Amino acid sequence: MVSEQKRILTGIRPTGPLHLGHYVGALENWVKLQKEYECFFLIANYQVADYVDQLDVINESIIEVATDWLAVGLDPESSHFTVESLVPEHAELSMWLSWFIQLGRLQRNPTLKSEIDALGNKPVSLAFFNYPILQVANILMPKAHLVPVGEDQLPHIEMTREIARKINKLAGHELFPIPKGLVGRVPRLVGINGPDAKMSKSADNAIYLKDDEETVKKKIMKMYTDPSRIHATDPGKVEGNPVFIYHDAFNTNTDEVKDLKERYTNGTVGDVEVKTKLFDAINAFLLPIRDERNKYAQNKKIVKEFLQQGSSHSSQVAKETMQELKSALNLGY
Ligand code: AMP
Repeated sequence: MVSEQKRILTGIRPTGPLHLGHYVGALENWVKLQKEYECFFLIANYQVADYVDQLDVINESIIEVATDWLAVGLDPESSHFTVESLVPEHAELSMWLSWFIQLGRLQRNPTLKSEIDALGNKPVSLAFFNYPILQVANILMPKAHLVPVGEDQLPHIEMTREIARKINKLAGHELFPIPKGLVGRVPRLVGINGPDAKMSKSADNAIYLKDDEETVKKKIMKMYTDPSRIHATDPGKVEGNPVFIYHDAFNTNTDEVKDLKERYTNGTVGDVEVKTKLFDAINAFLLPIRDERNKYAQNKKIVKEFLQQGSSHSSQVAKETMQELKSALNLGY
């Protein structure tokens, strides 16, 4: 079954509920593009080898992530919500694809390198090292044309393009489209605890889409600002200041943001006013998402059904792709 529409494949690892970074980096584009493209939204539960001692978190997060998707307006009827491990062809394809990528190429992947550094003393499993190849398999499986992601994922898309070209050359025809990446409005939203902070669950530095009003307020009030500014009358720094990065990302009242920036720079506004206005903006943004989320949080059965239904469609597509690949390259027996 060949679809007329161009396709999107993109995904998220089930390591916890989704946060504002996921929204501005990725989800916002997914919602916008879902009518224009046939979308395969993937929950990448093969790619969580760094969570091997927290498998309960993974399983719970599969439903959490799908619930967040529904809350922001992804449509499971027109798109395919897919659990990676329910389509084991992903693993098979990544095995075949790993023939076409050199070890050194993976070792030079900058995102993988920095993620391995971030593991510190924790040992790096082979599965963790190989996850970019799985991502290549995820993208090629439905023959995706576009991959909307945060900027950290671009090196993996570059690898996908290289492998797709190699395979097309071997096949003698365009078996796979050469996919393009599309980075969201904010390529990398910083954590609330500092200008260079990478968001992570362990650092507890993210505002989640499911956070209630009280939690959001507390997080914003303790947000990192300009540490050299002691009094409201001290001139402050706006650039690289997380509070203003979030204002730019979520406060739709651009005149208010401009005024706050001016007064902050001149030392004529207090942190409380800047943060209260940020809270109002983020809370207004989260309100409809929260309401929608509550509906689905009370009906996990339907969320599971969407995942089953989407995965089953993706399985069909995967079987077709595997057949084509094997016959084009004379792989398998
Ligand atoms: P992950 O949670 O690492 O599986 O990421 C899922 C998607 O969200 C990827 O496209 C990431 O690039 C994107 N993403 C995650 N965190 C952020 C962030 N802080 N800012 C922008 N995009 C993000």
